[in-house]
Amino acid sequence: MSATELDALLPALVDLRRDLHAHPELAYTEHRTAGIVARELRELGLEVHTGIGGTGVVATLRHGSGRGCIGLRADMDALPIVERSGLPHASTVAGVHHGCGHDGHTAMLLGAARHLARHPRFDGTVHFIFQPAEEGQGGAHAMIRDGLFERFPCDAVYALHNWPDLPLGHAQTRPGPIMAAADRFDITVHGRGGHAAMPQHTPDAILAASQLVTQLNTIVARAIDPVESAVLSVTQIEGGHAHNVLPGTAKVTGTVRSFNPAVQDRIEATLRAMAEGVARGSGTRVEVEYLRYYPATLNSADEARLALAAAADAGLHAAEAPHPAFTSEDFAFMLQAKPGAYLWLGQGRADPGPDGERALHHPSYDFNDNALPLGIRWFAAVAARALPAG
Ligand SMILES: [Zn+2]
Ligand SMILES: [Zn+2]
Repeated sequence: MSATELDALLPALVDLRRDLHAHPELAYTEHRTAGIVARELRELGLEVHTGIGGTGVVATLRHGSGRGCIGLRADMDALPIVERSGLPHASTVAGVHHGCGHDGHTAMLLGAARHLARHPRFDGTVHFIFQPAEEGQGGAHAMIRDGLFERFPCDAVYALHNWPDLPLGHAQTRPGPIMAAADRFDITVHGRGGHAAMPQHTPDAILAASQLVTQLNTIVARAIDPVESAVLSVTQIEGGHAHNVLPGTAKVTGTVRSFNPAVQDRIEATLRAMAEGVARGSGTRVEVEYLRYYPATLNSADEARLALAAAADAGLHAAEAPHPAFTSEDFAFMLQAKPGAYLWLGQGRADPGPDGERALHHPSYDFNDNALPLGIRWFAAVAARALPAG
């Protein structure tokens, strides 16, 4: 790809990215964004399908006679954050902010579609997948349930995320885990409630919940192989309303992050057993809700290598990521269904700033437009490598 081919696209893409930033939309309400995406893709002459998994959009570009097909994915949703960037293109929607750079991801994939439609240096089929609701709401899962991969078969899927911890021009990924599984637990301990001066008449829900908090904190240290990585944090404990009343219930809530599905299974099973054990010992009854909302994001080995090779083709400093991140990612569902890889693309803002304002999900965060051509080059290089022409 020559620099001039891409340079011609950039001014309009920067405008589009900033327009998306100024008009952010929350999970499953990305109607304006999806409308712009669909219009841009139709203007390229691509076959466009809308309303997949809610507000998802897929466009298909075929070239040559190759039977191979890949999916390139971007996310479109914003976050419920009050923006404090003070930028001219800051959010015009109260309490909604593109604080994770999905405006940049959408603009990069549109740029890649435009570039590949004009200069199709691949042989096969590319599906451009624009998903809703990445931020904790499972938009990728919704698209898969809506028949994404039956309607648009993919041999492999690829995605990127802007990464403020890496300098601009750098990219990393790794075979195996790249982002963590995220689980939530809510344990309700039921006593009966009664007079605090007559504890002999009621099981003590507060005491049982307290025992549970300390026991849960031993799971990672004692039940998990020390060479594995996981986190369990109790983040909320609720119960009681008066100094002289033993409450009828107490509630313990928290989060679990892990990379290995076997570790995740072990943690859930141990947590359930501990809750039952505490209930038996204290005469209380427990209800355990354990919700696995995002699985671990697991790159397949060949596709992770292809993603790194494509990053080098794109002129990026490509390196294997030394370890995965403990945050989680909806693209994990696509990687459960298909081989593929997820790349971290440097944002050039490794210094978090005095207030951490360059970090993802910060009220002053803004996507770095200088990363736009780098992401477009990477997507194009992935297509060229995965669907080689001649
Ligand atoms: Zn995010
Ligand atoms: Zn994000």
